[in-house]
Amino acid sequence: MLDIQKIRADFPILAQKVNGKPLVYFDNGATSQKPQVVLDAITKYYKEINANIHRGVHTLSQLATDAYEEARRKIQNHIHAQFAHEVIFTSGTTHSINAVANGFASILKAGDEVLVSALEHHSNIVPWQMLCERTGATLKVIPMNEQGELILSEYDSLLSEKTKMVAVNHISNALGTINPIEYMIEKAHQVGAAILIDGAQATPHLKPDVIALDCDFYVFSGHKICGPTGVGILYGKEEWLQKLPPYQGGGEMIATVSFEKTTYADLPHKFEAGTPNIEAGIVLGTAIDYLNGIGFQNIATYEQRLLEYATAKLLEIEGLKIYGTAKEKTSVISFNLEGIHPYDVGTIIDKLGIAVRTGHHCAQPIMDFYKIPGTIRASFAFYNTTDEIDIFVEALKKAQKMLL
Ligand SMILES: *Cc1c(COP(=O)(O)O)cnc(C)c1O
Repeated sequence: MLDIQKIRADFPILAQKVNGKPLVYFDNGATSQKPQVVLDAITKYYKEINANIHRGVHTLSQLATDAYEEARRKIQNHIHAQFAHEVIFTSGTTHSINAVANGFASILKAGDEVLVSALEHHSNIVPWQMLCERTGATLKVIPMNEQGELILSEYDSLLSEKTKMVAVNHISNALGTINPIEYMIEKAHQVGAAILIDGAQATPHLKPDVIALDCDFYVFSGHKICGPTGVGILYGKEEWLQKLPPYQGGGEMIATVSFEKTTYADLPHKFEAGTPNIEAGIVLGTAIDYLNGIGFQNIATYEQRLLEYATAKLLEIEGLKIYGTAKEKTSVISFNLEGIHPYDVGTIIDKLGIAVRTGHHCAQPIMDFYKIPGTIRASFAFYNTTDEIDIFVEALKKAQKMLL
């Protein structure tokens, strides 16, 4: 089992007081905290090897390039991609999805269909809407049920030879639902559609295997997995990345440039125009090493315990309703207190040092489905504890007394 106190000591921010109270950080779905090894790696990069990559012949540039490419290989191994050049550094999940959606503009035509699910983050809705507007393709939505699970029979009947792309998250950020992506990938491929998996909420909790999954694209953000902001990953199967046009033009992504014609660089550089966030890319490798050191199996087991503990405790509060009760769920609980606006609860418990997210969680269609303005979302990480959950539950009771 995990030594939680030892793990907590790795995260300097957790020892902090907020509004005079020990910080209880339950907003891990929005971003994760960073362990000391990650903070040290950021400083070390700037102190020792800061230089632009893939350009200079000088020593520092070589060291920075080597470290950057080593991080790429680490991520390749972590997600089990076949080739390192299938791992594209982006600025985050949003950038990754936009890069793919933009590429599909050269493939889609009027009458084609793109499927997204009712559980998506706005990042996995809006780029596809923009793509459909550009190409005349139609966006269709895989519906969800009251528990917050996708209705697979509806998915099956939406799929047809018109379907060119299915974009679905691995785990819902608003409800914590783990989607049956293995099934969805297989079904998409049966009709010849490509499938993109938004792994932004999955990668903090599990180690995806893109070969076993056989997905065409898998995307995620560094900042949600203990890494820095400003870096993310676009994994794409080689054949797709070859086929899609680049997203941005500029330095680094070209083979030759003249005013008549530019030829593009090989993968992965074709999708990496301009100077990237070098430090963040390198340090994402450090963050992944850190998480693997703890072990994703350990993380999953521990977080599942937190989820069960918190769910039981929260349901003892009168008038508390949990949204998203899927059988397969990660450590996210979205809920409301009857008759109270989530924002008011969030404000009061912040005074007690507790950080949760309130609102629509960039997933307005889910809130519309439940006919609510938003929820309070507590999202737990492996460095959270049952003691913190107790503090949280007491704070909610206090807020409820004040607001009702
Ligand atoms: C956070 C999140 C995103 C967006 O990630 P960014 O890091 O903001 O680009 C997309 N999808 C899901 C499921 C998320 O949780």
